[in-house]
Amino acid sequence: MTAARLDAAVPVLEKTPLEGYVAPEKPSLIGLSRGELAGLLAGFGVPETQRRMRVQQLWHWLYVRGARGFDAMTDLSKELRAALAARYTLDRPEVVAEQVSTDGTRKWLLRLPGESRSGRGHEIECVYIPDAERGTLCVSSQVGCTLNCSFCHTGTQRLVRNLTAGEIVGQVMVARDRLGDWPGGVRPRDGILPAGDRCITNIVVMGMGEPLYNFEAVRDALLIVADSGGIAISKRRITLSTSGVAPLIGRVGAEIGCMLAVSLHAVRDDLRNELVPINRKYPIAHLLEACRNYPGLSNARRITFEYVMLKGVNDSLADAKALVRLLQGIPAKINLIPFNPWPGTSYACSDWEQIERFSQVVFDAGYASPVRTPRGRDILAACGQLKSATERLSARERMALRAMALTD
Ligand code: SAH
Ligand code: SF4
Repeated sequence: MTAARLDAAVPVLEKTPLEGYVAPEKPSLIGLSRGELAGLLAGFGVPETQRRMRVQQLWHWLYVRGARGFDAMTDLSKELRAALAARYTLDRPEVVAEQVSTDGTRKWLLRLPGESRSGRGHEIECVYIPDAERGTLCVSSQVGCTLNCSFCHTGTQRLVRNLTAGEIVGQVMVARDRLGDWPGGVRPRDGILPAGDRCITNIVVMGMGEPLYNFEAVRDALLIVADSGGIAISKRRITLSTSGVAPLIGRVGAEIGCMLAVSLHAVRDDLRNELVPINRKYPIAHLLEACRNYPGLSNARRITFEYVMLKGVNDSLADAKALVRLLQGIPAKINLIPFNPWPGTSYACSDWEQIERFSQVVFDAGYASPVRTPRGRDILAACGQLKSATERLSARERMALRAMALTD
């Protein structure tokens, strides 16, 4: 199949439609590529010979210094700064609520600029998970998700829209703002932070949404995050997680070059059809074939297979053995994820002893450190849960949360 035909095979948003959405009048520069910034400067009359340098200066202010306004950009002329400020902002998403877990995990509910039918901007969430060595930021790629995985709370949300590249990069910006993760920034005193000079060292696209249903925006955003003259998070430290949009997996390697995680969760098509319904379109054999062909795959650059532990559903030792057989020949890591229950779900997390037995089979087959420790349990850290919890709050409670988020 040609690339174009493969693309055509990828369905568009099915649950959509948010026609009520109105983009903000003044767009933010966050999320524009270097090429787009050059085009914009050309429109302001910046001569071609200067454009590269001006873009470099802007880029530095935006992504190395974290500038919040144009006034700080003293190496740009006053006229250019005024012209930029008249038409653009440096806005990031607005923090509506912040929760800090006892283990240092931070979760932000963010409101996007623009208006939805309700008259407010759409809301997404973003989670920061620090430990002694690294700080991982989990970003969303869509408002909601069209895919209805039966164990995932995000899939139960009705409304969906794709995020723009700016809204994806904006999550990284707002997290760096909140963590004082810019030169001279003031770090929060509650919660642990990794040693070293950067609070955010890794990015995972594992928040709300299916990133490969929003491929272009996710690609453009990750290329900005990885740009070595800006935020500079190495592609080896960026992981995109997909539920298995097989036709686009090759493009992740070729056009982004980041690490890949695949939400496998079952070893048989009948069960995976139920847990991850996109499996009906791209069954396990088709998905694993795309993984085998992942550009750049090697023992040093393995694919992570995620496997959520659901009690009595997919957690037998026969499943564990089938899992390692299935992945034979693919340079892989296996992440066993304890199921994070949400109100109304009929699934339960496997017993700890069963997770250990399952993990032993995986370990004996040569896969190291397979269980992902649940983080931020006290603040409902599974994807989709902060948003749903605040949706149930009264206006007064929402305001209190908001005030809390803005005052520290
Ligand atoms: N849509 C993408 C990325 C977002 S979900 C995907 O499905 O891969 C990120 C990961 O969290 C996926 O592996 C997903 O299966 C898992 N997940 C979703 N809900 C969960 C829950 N309640 N408990 C544990 N893991 C969950
Ligand atoms: Fe969407 Fe991923 Fe949740 Fe499935 S697990 S509904 S693909 S966010």
